Amino acid sequence: MKAAVIHENGDLDQVVIDDIPSPECMADEVLIEVRAAALNHLDIWVRRGRPGHELSFPHVLGSDATGVVLETGSDVDHVKPGDKVVINPGLSCGFCEFCRRGQQSECLHFGIVGLSRPGTFAERTVVPGRNVSRKPGYLSDEEAAALPLAYLTAWRMLFSRGGLALGETVLIHGIGGGVALAALQLAKLASAKVIVTSSSENKLDKARELGADLTINYIEYPDVGAAVKDLTHGRGVDLAIDTTGAETWESNFNAVRRGGRIVHCGVTTGARANVNISALYWNHITVMGSTMGSDEDFRQLLAAAKTAQLRPVIDVILPLDHAREAIGRMEAGKQFGKIVLSPRGKEAGLEEAEAARGMEPA
Ligand SMILES: [Zn+2]
Repeated sequence: MKAAVIHENGDLDQVVIDDIPSPECMADEVLIEVRAAALNHLDIWVRRGRPGHELSFPHVLGSDATGVVLETGSDVDHVKPGDKVVINPGLSCGFCEFCRRGQQSECLHFGIVGLSRPGTFAERTVVPGRNVSRKPGYLSDEEAAALPLAYLTAWRMLFSRGGLALGETVLIHGIGGGVALAALQLAKLASAKVIVTSSSENKLDKARELGADLTINYIEYPDVGAAVKDLTHGRGVDLAIDTTGAETWESNFNAVRRGGRIVHCGVTTGARANVNISALYWNHITVMGSTMGSDEDFRQLLAAAKTAQLRPVIDVILPLDHAREAIGRMEAGKQFGKIVLSPRGKEAGLEEAEAARGMEPA
């Protein structure tokens, strides 16, 4: 089968399309024909190499996907061949203290499809049966593939960790990335007032179309904390959602109100930062980390998305053969929304996405 793989860690030119053997399905797994697979920043980290994560080469990239079940292992009975499914890429053991508490993304052995096992940028993929759910019928294959990792991450950051309440004000850095856009859409479902930042007026315009209430161009206003205070009449936001890391770290402490919360999920601009401990305790600030989400977060996300008929923002759909170009686009930060690969080619993907937009919800 055709797959986008790397033969060693390195730069973008390591991403190649290879013909590799189709994966085998074990008793607790399902074999899926991939219909659409979405990119995440994780694909870049995996390609470059992450300390502590030894890959078995050639390694298939990709975490998110939708597809059709081709085969189920003997222990899997909640889906059957022919079912359309969406993959939750979070891998957990099911037995540790944290899994038993229902906090699967806190699992001692937590892993991710495409990092801890072969990924989804392929014509077929195998994942544990417990990681597949029925694809939401109102979404196209491409839209459903765009949902899991980014929207699950945003869901947990906003609600399970961030405790977002109706009417609160949220700051979201770097609008245009998958998790940031997901956070914007989901925060608007909760009637939050949302402030977004970007260096691109074009991205800020698009964010306003998606419901962003206030925008900050951080080229024009590099002191984002002060800009947020101006926009909130000196008060600050209730919650800051940060997917970027070191570059925005400090601004959060100025941007949140007294008693405000800051939730982090990524380090695209660096992983090391200084903290002013005085500002932290004097202003009663809470800083939290968050990674993907629990099974219950995923269930709630799919339910809320369906009720609200929420459609993930898609930047572009490209054929699987264009995996390198697709990852390069993300690495350059050119995207607004999710970049999706279609093993069946761009035309088929676009046609289905258009058709799905005119379809009645399931
Ligand atoms: Zn566990």
